[in-house]
Amino acid sequence: MLEIYPWQEKQRQRLLEMQQQERFPHALLLCGPDGIGLDQFAQTFAMQMLCLSKGIDSENACGTCQSCQLFTAGSHPDLFIIEPEEEGKQVKIAQIRELIEYVTLKSFSGHSKIAIIKSADAMNRATANALLKTLEEPPSQSMLFLLSHRPSNLPITIRSRCQRIDFDPVFDQTAVNWLNAQSIDSDLSAELLLRLSGGGPLKALSLVENEQLAFRHNLVNDLKSLTKKGCDPVQIASNWQALGVENIFVSLMRIIQDLIRLKLLQERANLVNLDLKEDLQDLVNSLDLVALARNYDFVLFKYQQSTGPMNYNVLSLFEEIVVNWNKPKTAY
Ligand SMILES: [Zn+2]
Repeated sequence: MLEIYPWQEKQRQRLLEMQQQERFPHALLLCGPDGIGLDQFAQTFAMQMLCLSKGIDSENACGTCQSCQLFTAGSHPDLFIIEPEEEGKQVKIAQIRELIEYVTLKSFSGHSKIAIIKSADAMNRATANALLKTLEEPPSQSMLFLLSHRPSNLPITIRSRCQRIDFDPVFDQTAVNWLNAQSIDSDLSAELLLRLSGGGPLKALSLVENEQLAFRHNLVNDLKSLTKKGCDPVQIASNWQALGVENIFVSLMRIIQDLIRLKLLQERANLVNLDLKEDLQDLVNSLDLVALARNYDFVLFKYQQSTGPMNYNVLSLFEEIVVNWNKPKTAY
């Protein structure tokens, strides 16, 4: 049985209110950091909307009616989900056309016809334009959920036609308790894991499960080698490429932010990578603030290029970062 996560109660209440006041929009844009659980939230709500005999409180799906059974089996005819065919790739225009055709058809149950677009920001301009007309003139029973970790990458025309629901990063006790209940095998505390995940508890969990934490040590060591010029930058860039684009960019930015914090605040610095404090301290002594700030801007700029609509070569983005590390140029 699908349920929302404990940190999503506020957003759930908001949707329930809209439902009760019969002003539920035709398109919702759910935004929040990676690992906040947007997909499960949308699906839980979709299941509730399609349920034929809602539970006693009418706020939850019953879990047993024919609709709920179809939903749980992943074969509900009034639910359509699209996502990029491969991680990091774009949503294709053909997928959007299929979705439009689908929402235009009459619903099987006589209720809503729901579509969920995961990673909505992975639509390029032409694909987004194809969706626009459906957002402007939605078929009467249709309901679209657009999910995005990077809503600023969505065209304004799309954003302005959706009702936006934000999910803030969570670092509070609710998320800590939830993580602790997942019997994770890590030396790091739930609080630290949440920091490292940027406030996305599911992301925190996957960091542990996919052993994605150890590479931060290597990353700091790579930056040390680059600073001492005791390595082959091209080799480092190629090692990074193997570790995953998103992982490297996000970790790199957090490490440089920590270095800046250490530079400015020394002992009082509140670090994200608290477990790497000694290594970071070692590194910060051989870097100046201007270089750090420029490197941060440069990495951010390259990250934006990597997630933007143009298909940049990741290896060459990383090469530019490592080659520029000691003499960082301004990003713009
Ligand atoms: Zn039901």
